[in-house]
Amino acid sequence: MAKKQIGVVPLWDEEKNSLWMLPNYLDAIRESGGIPVILPLHVPPEDAAQVLAGCDGLLMTGGHDISPALYGQEKKQTCGALCEARDKLEQALYRCAVERDMGVLGICRGIQMVNVLEGGTLYQDLPTEHPSGVEHHGKPPYDQVIHWVNLRPAFRELLGTERLGVNSYHHQAIRELGENLEILAQAEDGVVEAVRRRNSRFIWAVQWHPEFSFWTDDSSRRLFRAFVDHC
Ligand code: MN
Repeated sequence: MAKKQIGVVPLWDEEKNSLWMLPNYLDAIRESGGIPVILPLHVPPEDAAQVLAGCDGLLMTGGHDISPALYGQEKKQTCGALCEARDKLEQALYRCAVERDMGVLGICRGIQMVNVLEGGTLYQDLPTEHPSGVEHHGKPPYDQVIHWVNLRPAFRELLGTERLGVNSYHHQAIRELGENLEILAQAEDGVVEAVRRRNSRFIWAVQWHPEFSFWTDDSSRRLFRAFVDHC
């Protein structure tokens, strides 16, 4: 059987005015039996379908904060740097992936984007809008457990555990859940840490970074393997 080809949304470095990529994302896909392909960024949204033409799945990577305009809010001062090009193209890529019933894995910014595109909202600045004793903005190394999450049945089934220690490196988080989404995991302070889209082949997203813990943590490998297998 041909290997599954997974389109990976590139990262953007505004200082260098350049696309970039963390090899962990690509390694995790390759080690899970897929072929990672870094997608372009500056293409018209109407070309998204063609950009995804050769792909079986879509990996929505981490990155900048998401423009609050996408969920109908004014940008607060506490909101971080935005990336208009990613905001634009990811909308088009995601819509196309849903329409084709492709597999999607969202990571960090990816879960936030999936939520927004399903009609949900975000905390623009998690520490001030949802203060808690849980550290969500951990420091390197990023393959260490920063906090625990409680898993709902679908995730329990995949990992064979009820609680999972995860890394955490995020500034924003899901506030109101998008319509077609179901919560798969929550942190001890209630922050939504994983979701999936109902009635889709496999559209899962997590707030933590399984690509950083891929080599050290079996649950991260299982998640990537499930994603590639379902594409
Ligand atoms: Mn977290």
